[in-house]
Amino acid sequence: MSLAASIKSRAEIARLAEKWRNEGERIAFTSGVFDLLHIGHVSYLTAIKEKTAATKLIVAVNSDTSVRALKGELRPFVPERERALLLHALACIDEVFVFADKTNKENILAIKPHYYVKASDYDVKTLSSAKYLKSWNGKALTLPMVSGHSTSKLFERIVEKAYIKGMIPQTLQTGYPDKASDGTLLPRRRAVFLDRDGVIVEDCEYLHRLEEVRLLPGVATALKRLNELGYVLIVVTNQPGIGLGYFSHKDFFRVNKKMLSLLSKAGVNITGIYFCPHSKAVGCMCRKPEGELVVRATSDHHLAIRESFFIGDQTSDVETARRLKIKSILVNTGKRGSDKKYAVSPDFKAENLNKAVAWIAACDR
Ligand SMILES: [Zn+2]
Repeated sequence: MSLAASIKSRAEIARLAEKWRNEGERIAFTSGVFDLLHIGHVSYLTAIKEKTAATKLIVAVNSDTSVRALKGELRPFVPERERALLLHALACIDEVFVFADKTNKENILAIKPHYYVKASDYDVKTLSSAKYLKSWNGKALTLPMVSGHSTSKLFERIVEKAYIKGMIPQTLQTGYPDKASDGTLLPRRRAVFLDRDGVIVEDCEYLHRLEEVRLLPGVATALKRLNELGYVLIVVTNQPGIGLGYFSHKDFFRVNKKMLSLLSKAGVNITGIYFCPHSKAVGCMCRKPEGELVVRATSDHHLAIRESFFIGDQTSDVETARRLKIKSILVNTGKRGSDKKYAVSPDFKAENLNKAVAWIAACDR
């Protein structure tokens, strides 16, 4: 049978189940989402025939609509038909169908299984559909799911690896469209790119401890003013401490989360955080003064790069801006431009972020 033809309807499977019962087969039935099939799912499904006297296993897969209702808009990752086909290809499963009901009542009444099996995160007593099994002496039971495996965990691992590989920026908002719904081109938006350590938060060497995350004085007010002036705020930061193994991606994300929560309390909206996790030795293209992160942010958020500004506390920030022909501001906080790595002069030297913003506002007039 071809792959495409292998998924039957519930009615077809109900007729098949009746035939099986008449032939003396013992039928087990279970249901689930089975999104991003993993070893936990397969161990659970394989155990069903081993732990019962069942000779046939029928699986009902939640439809896409019902998964969205159960697990939110992001799910499922894999559409219902593909989830069903993957399960059907497993040796331990005999038939699969897709169902949209909220409960298994109709499934059970149609199939009349000898065993109704659910994963052990369900309590047998609370399986409301189990009562329908009584009229043909069916039995409800739960089987353990192997711990440590779940689709959510798998998804988190994929995302974390993608971050580590620098494949996705830590962007807080979805990308900004370049076209309106009627197809007209939207204007690009002006941005202010900001270094993080020494510009927004106090500069601590390899900052990764939450208790060390402190906003520099006046930063919230200054950034809020930039928001009011219509600038999109993008943080661009080198974090070689990750690549050197001094702290983890998780530590870095936690620091950002705290910084963002302090800023959002003050009404500041940061659109994205772009970071290079590599040490200098790697020679990557995302480490400032390379411009890759700024270019990526510009494309993700439909920014007008030439009308934007770059604020940093190091000459590498000024050099990044120079290479991209963005106006640069060196602030006298954090490293205070004392790194002397690049012989560059900024478009403006500001005592702090507040003064930098005042200069941007003046450029605007
Ligand atoms: Zn890098």
